[in-house]
Amino acid sequence: MALETLILPDGTQIPYQLERRARRTIGLKITESGLVVHAPRRIFLFELNRVLQEKAQWIITKLEARMQSAQPPMVWTHGADLHYLGNLLTLEIIAASSAKKPQLVQEKLHIHIKTAGLEANIHAEFEAVIERKAIQWLKQQAQLDFSRRIQVFAAKLGVRTPPLSLSNARARWGSCSSRGDIRLNWRLIQAPPHIINYVICHELAHLKHMNHSGHFWAQVETLYPDYKRAEKDLKALSPLLHRV
Ligand SMILES: [Zn+2]
Repeated sequence: MALETLILPDGTQIPYQLERRARRTIGLKITESGLVVHAPRRIFLFELNRVLQEKAQWIITKLEARMQSAQPPMVWTHGADLHYLGNLLTLEIIAASSAKKPQLVQEKLHIHIKTAGLEANIHAEFEAVIERKAIQWLKQQAQLDFSRRIQVFAAKLGVRTPPLSLSNARARWGSCSSRGDIRLNWRLIQAPPHIINYVICHELAHLKHMNHSGHFWAQVETLYPDYKRAEKDLKALSPLLHRV
């Protein structure tokens, strides 16, 4: 096994592990440690390089997908990070004698856990309670925040503010029904505002065009000129938003 580097015409360097095998063809594999190339024992490096150059787009796409799906799972404990409107909040778990709503105090989300005492137990045993409370809080913020944004952009579009509900869909960020109801994934509240604004404008534009035609995208652009960047950012952020 040898560590080699594939250098693309644009200067991008992709390190890979080269494993020579008794085989006739070149095999590519994306693993946790990156690109692994299985090559015939006798192939010259320049020949191998030519084949890899041809497969460069495939390799990059796969490597990017792998990187994106490698999000560590959320751990609901004291000190954990929570994304909120593109900022990082820290969970602060506080033992309380009575039930209390979570509170945002500067960059900390205080979550109060009713417990008989024993501080040490808080961190291990109450994960499910912390998760439930934090997600409930995120959903409440989502409802408030999205409603305000929808009002602003509906006015800009010159339509009445449509009714909003939150969705829990795994694969969609928003939808607009033929009756004109807008559903937005509550997980978007974790994203920076420009992404939320884009998704809202996208769904509002469907009030005018119930399709993804050129007219539709022109409407999106009028409402939200920088939509292409936001769409790209949303795609890149998607695995992170699905951590909760
Ligand atoms: Zn759409």
